[in-house]
Amino acid sequence: MTQVVQPSKIVCIGRNYAEHAKELGNEVPKEPLIFLKPPSALLPPGGTIILPPVSRQVEFEGEIGVVIGKQAHRVAEAEAESFIAGYTCVNDVTCRDLQKTDGQWTRAKGFDTFCPAGPRVVSLDWRSLSVVTRVNGIERQRAPSSDMIFPIPRLVAHISAIMTLEPGDLIATGTPAGVGRLVAGDVVEVEIPGIGILSNHVAAQETQ
Ligand code: ZN
Repeated sequence: MTQVVQPSKIVCIGRNYAEHAKELGNEVPKEPLIFLKPPSALLPPGGTIILPPVSRQVEFEGEIGVVIGKQAHRVAEAEAESFIAGYTCVNDVTCRDLQKTDGQWTRAKGFDTFCPAGPRVVSLDWRSLSVVTRVNGIERQRAPSSDMIFPIPRLVAHISAIMTLEPGDLIATGTPAGVGRLVAGDVVEVEIPGIGILSNHVAAQETQ
């Protein structure tokens, strides 16, 4: 299995849907809240998400992924779309318990296999995108991109004012309401109609 994306960095957005911020008891942010996932967390379509034994609450987060097409440094929001190569499905897998106890999110969101992405990158109008997540065939999340607090061009402008975005870099644009736990044996799917379905199995880490 080969990776669909080869980013130098994965920039994620927290709390970009009002209903999701509410379900976790968080305020809606006044500007985009960003964090990084390591590229070592990437998992291709069909790959297996491995549950680390240190966590008792690993959750899915279906998200719209933005793939950068050309180097972006301090781009204006009005110009941001021209720096985007296309969009793909992302699952921002998260240890919800460690996210709370650690106080920052590097460990909770950084385990190997915690960033499934794919199955392809498609150039579409971001205004037409929506994301759907299913676990074992049951729908758990569904939201249009219009529900985002900060729209995609704003995110590209905001991030590129902080760090230069390189071609291939991936932005995970935040998850809508409906997040929930994954257990060994589950099959989790993130779908963006018009792009495809990112499907991954879930398994416990084998003990040494
Ligand atoms: Zn997320």
